[in-house]
Amino acid sequence: MSETAKPKKAHAAHASGKNERPARGHQAAKDGAKGTLHKKTGQKGAGAEPSKVYFTDMRCRIGTSLLDKLDKLMLAAGVERINFQNAFVAIKIHFGEPGNLAFLRPNFAKTVADRVKKLGGMPFLTDANTLYVGRRNNALLHMDAAYENGFTPLSTGCHVIIADGLKGADEVEVPIEGGVHLKTARIGRAIMDADVFISLNHFKGHELTGFGGAIKNIGMGSGSRAGKMIMHNNGKPRVAHDKCVGCRTCARYCNQDAITFNEEKKASINHELCVGCGRCIATCNFDAIDTPWEGSSDDVNIRMVEYAKAVLDGRPNFHISVVNHVSPNCDCHGENDAAIIPDIGIFASFDPVALDKACIDAVNAAPVIPGTVLGDKFGKQLEGKGEPACGCGGHGQHDHFHVVHPGTNWRSQIEHAEALGLGSGTYELVTIK
Ligand code: SF4
Ligand code: SF4
Repeated sequence: MSETAKPKKAHAAHASGKNERPARGHQAAKDGAKGTLHKKTGQKGAGAEPSKVYFTDMRCRIGTSLLDKLDKLMLAAGVERINFQNAFVAIKIHFGEPGNLAFLRPNFAKTVADRVKKLGGMPFLTDANTLYVGRRNNALLHMDAAYENGFTPLSTGCHVIIADGLKGADEVEVPIEGGVHLKTARIGRAIMDADVFISLNHFKGHELTGFGGAIKNIGMGSGSRAGKMIMHNNGKPRVAHDKCVGCRTCARYCNQDAITFNEEKKASINHELCVGCGRCIATCNFDAIDTPWEGSSDDVNIRMVEYAKAVLDGRPNFHISVVNHVSPNCDCHGENDAAIIPDIGIFASFDPVALDKACIDAVNAAPVIPGTVLGDKFGKQLEGKGEPACGCGGHGQHDHFHVVHPGTNWRSQIEHAEALGLGSGTYELVTIK
């Protein structure tokens, strides 16, 4: 059941006095953040102020765990400036479709939850149900999947709450301030009931949106099933009959029975039934299914950004992205193809847009791992010369995301997020050792 949220929701109770929380997290990030090394990077958007993005790499001296570094990163980024006292804190994460092994280890979630508890908050792990065939499209299956992948109270120290309830209908209709394409967003109730929102993101490629990072985890990930359908509207794929071999794999993964076959065994997608979830695109081993370049990827990205705005407005929020096991596709798949680049590190910021842009730049600057889908698509292997397979010399001149998924345009996420005031695509990178 849906209900319309009051503009500032329950968080208004914390708008003054002891429980005061900053109105917009990323603004706080711009004031007095600390770090050991300071470096400007990224492209400055029109009139945009750079936001600070904190980074730590994957190197660990003996006796110092990556989890220690994550905690240090959060503190350096200023997470303690949020008033967590007696606050319900939603830690938005993707639990990973069973069979996928690229999703974030529960250990990362425990570190974030432990820090929240030390600061006086009451954390819970959350995600909303999915649209497509799989094991996370109702709360019971979703919790089974989360536990199976290790996100138990015993391992993380906090509970799993599926944000939009048993059947994905427990939602709140939230106004989107400044929304261009949408005026309201349908968000899972548990997420909107939280006083503080933290996104803990696995950064990777995505077959429909180009990349999956903070904006996607927040916007698409927090939407109820109805919300996800609205975001996917117009993002509907098509089949190139000259490439289709009639294997029917795509139809097995379509939850809407939207894929039919003609007498020549060529697939077609009925756009009346299709909800645009994009699942079929990556299941086709013959690259026969794609989204039209004009419109669909951009449409989904733009709607997703507007949903993210609805989730974050009016309460403190903080964002962490782990750039490891950078698989070409979403963790919604029950498998993960080989990582396309080496592991990079962990990024944190109050600004989800700056965070995503920093991760994009880092991935695009990374060498391609040969023998992966990215290496294959560049069509060139290392041949023992120590150069990246793409031949870019490691200078980040290539757009790895667009090479892997040519029908996508990740830039529309960043551009619309900036235009909407969700954050800044310009950032200062602060490295924490
Ligand atoms: S998975 Fe690809 S090749 Fe197989 S039927 Fe579907 S569109 Fe055709
Ligand atoms: S045809 Fe593809 S995009 Fe449409 S609902 Fe089915 S799996 Fe999703």
